[in-house]
Amino acid sequence: MKKNIILMGPPGAGKGTLAKQLISLGMTHISTGDMFREEISNQTELGKLAASYINAGHLVPDEVTIKMLQNRLAKPDCENGFLLDGFPRTLAQAEALEGMSKEINRPIETVISLTCDEEELIKRISGRRVCKVCGAPYHIVNMKPKQEGICDKCGGELYQRKDDNVESLKVRLQHYTVDTAPLLSFYSKKGLIVEFNSLVDSGTLFDEVKKFLLS
Ligand code: ADP
Ligand code: ZN
Repeated sequence: MKKNIILMGPPGAGKGTLAKQLISLGMTHISTGDMFREEISNQTELGKLAASYINAGHLVPDEVTIKMLQNRLAKPDCENGFLLDGFPRTLAQAEALEGMSKEINRPIETVISLTCDEEELIKRISGRRVCKVCGAPYHIVNMKPKQEGICDKCGGELYQRKDDNVESLKVRLQHYTVDTAPLLSFYSKKGLIVEFNSLVDSGTLFDEVKKFLLS
């Protein structure tokens, strides 16, 4: 099975949903967005700094993000392979990752790029709700919980992320185009990119990606 994977795609393409499904294959899911949100809810210094960027849709500075990821990759649960969700997002992060993965002897084996049209991204993000407790994703139209506002899996309260509004989303899409999309050619030159259209239902996408990773 392919290990040490990067999951790329614009906000709303379904990275988080797919990543949570892929955990069943035994890899460690590392989401820099989730890590920042955890710091924010614990009101740490890093959280306060990160919130000032995230809520407006901007990227957290490279230096801070790279250091946080470096500490995370050093943990023993990464030894059986990791799935990076939301990192790298800039060329500087991708270059730092090259160095880090060499150091721990875990080269990136594949980069999954999720594609989706902008109109659909806006619909997905504006209707998205997330469980406060377990992080499970929902949508007020497409993926309704059984009981409004309550997580099916753990009974936790559902909330709307502060950056899931039209203004922040515009900024996030702009950052994707300017800062992150160039990484597609960076990894394409290394022969690592595999593209999947995420305009299918989440079960179908998971099956397709799983088949590819196990091939
Ligand atoms: P989405 O892909 O839906 O935008 P994420 O949860 O991956 O959501 O990220 C949320 C926010 O966290 C980003 O908009 C950004 O502000 C910050 N963030 C996450 N990962 C990174 C990163 N690698 N570099 C800089 N900022 C990041
Ligand atoms: Zn939950």
